[in-house]
Amino acid sequence: MRILVINAGSSSLKYQLFDTSGGGEVLAKGLCERIGLDGHIKHSAANREPYESDAPMENHAEAVRAVIGLLTGPETGVIADMGEIGAIGHRVVHGGEYFNASVLVNDEVISAIEECVPLAPLHNPPNLVGIRACAEVMPGVPQAAVFDTAFHQTMPEKAYLYALPYEYYERLKIRRYGFHGTSHLYVARRAAEILGRPAEELKIITCHMGNGSSLAAVDGGVSVDTSMGFTPLEGVLMGTRSGSIDPAIIQYLMTKEDLTVVQVTEILNKKSGALGISGVSSDFRDLLAASVGGNSRARAALEIFAYSVKKTIGAYAAAMSGCDALVFTGGIGENHVVIRGLICEGLSYMGLVLDGKKNKAVQGEEGFISEDGSPNKIMVVPTNEELVIALDTQALVSP
Ligand code: ADP
Repeated sequence: MRILVINAGSSSLKYQLFDTSGGGEVLAKGLCERIGLDGHIKHSAANREPYESDAPMENHAEAVRAVIGLLTGPETGVIADMGEIGAIGHRVVHGGEYFNASVLVNDEVISAIEECVPLAPLHNPPNLVGIRACAEVMPGVPQAAVFDTAFHQTMPEKAYLYALPYEYYERLKIRRYGFHGTSHLYVARRAAEILGRPAEELKIITCHMGNGSSLAAVDGGVSVDTSMGFTPLEGVLMGTRSGSIDPAIIQYLMTKEDLTVVQVTEILNKKSGALGISGVSSDFRDLLAASVGGNSRARAALEIFAYSVKKTIGAYAAAMSGCDALVFTGGIGENHVVIRGLICEGLSYMGLVLDGKKNKAVQGEEGFISEDGSPNKIMVVPTNEELVIALDTQALVSP
C-alpha cells in the first residue's frame, strides 16, 4: 500500500510517500516551506531528478495540492494519480492522556487533539491544519494520527506525577507526558531485533539526542520513564533549551532583570542549553570545533550535556534494576563520536564498556559501539519516525 506521511508545522509541511508492501520503501519525499508567505518546495523521488522551486502556497491545502502535483507529475512523479494513495499518516505532537497508540482520524479524534491544544499550543494546531488540508484535497482517503506522546502513556504514576497539589493534575492535566515517543519506540524495537531477543525480556535505555534531546527507560518493550515532561523543556539540557533547572530561578530572574514570565520562558527555550552556556552555537558540531580551538565554554557545554545524559542513564538503570542495552539516536546520538565517548566514560560498572575504535567507526548507521566482551551492549540505531507512522497507518487501515 502507498502511504503518505505528513508532518505539518505552522508554515511548513514535510512529506514522505512509502510503499509499505516491501517493509517500507520511501518512493518520494520533500518539504514545503514558507507556506502563507512566498512559498518554497523541495522534492526528491526514486529515479527522478531532485526538484526545487519557489511556489506560492497560500495555505496548507495548497501545499498538499502541490505535493500531489509533484507525486503524480511526468518529471517528478512516482504514482499515476492520487487514487494510488491508500492512506495518510500524520505526526501529531500531543495526544494527552487520550491516546496510548496511533488511531484513525474521525470527529472524536479531532476533538481530542483540539482538547490537547493548550498542552502543545505551537504544535497541535498546525498538525490539525495538516489533517484538515488532506481531508479537503483527498476526501475519503483514511487518515491516521501518530502521537509523540503515545508511547510514554505506559509510564506508571510514580514516574509521571509531579509533586504538586493533586488537583492540578486532575483539573489542569499537569503531569509528565514525554515526547519523541515514536523515535524511542522505533529504536528500542529495532535494538531488540538486532540483539535477536524479544523486547519483553530487555531493559533498554534509549537516548534521542538532536536539537531537542530526551531519554527513555524501556522495560519489556514499554516506556516506564522519560526525561521530557509536561513540555519538551524538561530533562537534559539541549541545543537552546535549559532542560531541568531549579524552578525558583524563574522568579529570581524576573525580579533581578525585570523580565516578564513570557520573556523568561523564551530565554529557557531559545537562549539557554548548549547555546546559552557556550555563547557559540546550539549545534554540537560547531561546539566541538570551538572546543578543539580552545574555547573553554564550548568545552563546558559539551561536558555538561554529556554529564546530564550520563546521570539520567544512571537513574534509569536504577529505575529498571539494570540496562541490557544503551541505544543512541538522533543527529548527535547517531554521529557525535566525542559526545558518545564522554557519556560512556566510566559506565563499565554497569557492564557497558565502550570500544573507542568502534565508536569512531559507527556514524549515521546501525552498529554496536561496545567492546565485543561487554556484558551489556551500547548501540547506534538511526531513528525512523516516518517509517513507524507509515507502518502504524497501514496496520490501522488494513489490520
Ligand atoms: P532535530 O532534533 O532538529 O531533528 P537532529 O536530530 O538533526 O535535530 O540533530 C541536530 C544535532 O545533531 C546538531 O547539534 C548537530 O550538530 C548534530 N549532528 C548532526 N550531524 C552530525 C555529525 N555528522 N557529527 C556530529 N554531530 C552531528
